[in-house]
Amino acid sequence: MAKINIGLVGFGKIARDQHLPALAANPDYHLMAITESAHPPPGGVSVFKSLDDMIAGSPDIEAVSLCTPPQGRYALARQAIGHRLHVLLEKPPGESIAEVEALIDTARSRGVALFGTWHSREAPAVDAARRWLANATIRDVAITWQEDVRRWHPKQEWIWQQGGFGVFDPGINALSIATRLLPRAIFLTSAQLCYPENRDMPIAATLNLSDSAGTPIHAHFDWRQTGTQTWDIIVNTDSGRVHLSEGGAALSIDGRSVELAPAGEYRNLYRRFVDLVKDSSVDVDLAPLRLVVDAFAMGERRIVEPFHD
Ligand code: NAP
Repeated sequence: MAKINIGLVGFGKIARDQHLPALAANPDYHLMAITESAHPPPGGVSVFKSLDDMIAGSPDIEAVSLCTPPQGRYALARQAIGHRLHVLLEKPPGESIAEVEALIDTARSRGVALFGTWHSREAPAVDAARRWLANATIRDVAITWQEDVRRWHPKQEWIWQQGGFGVFDPGINALSIATRLLPRAIFLTSAQLCYPENRDMPIAATLNLSDSAGTPIHAHFDWRQTGTQTWDIIVNTDSGRVHLSEGGAALSIDGRSVELAPAGEYRNLYRRFVDLVKDSSVDVDLAPLRLVVDAFAMGERRIVEPFHD
């Protein structure tokens, strides 16, 4: 197959840290274009003010990765699909369930690939743990995602605005793992969301969830953690305790660490996207976004101290 001519829309932190090296490592892609940002472009790549200009100025472009914040991503995706470009969406796939469902319909009717990525699902512990859990009876699950927002999202204003998801921006990564890991669909039973008095999005959230077997699943997301950062999922079963740590980069079962393949989350995503482009097919799982939307709908709102970056 000829290389896929691809463009990056949004050349911020994730595009530079992950998309760029994953594309450079994959001979199936030719990175043709990016949208402009404050950061220097890679050599030999055209820079455009907007997706509109990229489409007009790169007639050979076949696919785009949308690495912009979730606000406005629907409009960009719709525009790209309208020009029959294959589209890879950063997580979360959109601001609402309904807009992503509309995108799925549009992609199918235009005959292009649409990939709603969940990079954390590609962490090496996830598949290993899922296989192990398939033969176990799960008693309870504890998810702890606690990190320092000043360290990971310094001065990122969009994340605190409507549609930016606040602490659910990292929290949805944990939910993307849980919805892949656990054998049954999970749903929210109650939630508590903590909003700084000067912000529109939560800085912390506690979720109680369950599944059709009544399994208690507890999740706590908190952006106020300094020092050690915690991205843990612990699953207690009748035959042992499964502990995913470092966001799924490490796994131990009953305290014994399990050897895993090296991490390659974004490389895996771009390999998968090649297959989707070949078949012009759609791969979008809305389960993690649905849980977050439910938390906003059902969650009790608490006001906490103001947050200043
Ligand atoms: P970021 O650093 O703020 O970068 C976003 C970029 O998108 C900025 O360069 C911004 O340009 C640009 N942009 C915004 N609207 C645009 C538009 N309409 N057309 C073209 N460019 C546009 O954000 P990020 O951290 O990379 O996050 C982006 C997405 O990736 C989010 O959905 C996030 O959840 C996801 N993600 C982030 C991480 C991470 O570690 N940061 C990890 C995994 C996934 P301006 O600055 O000029 O507005």
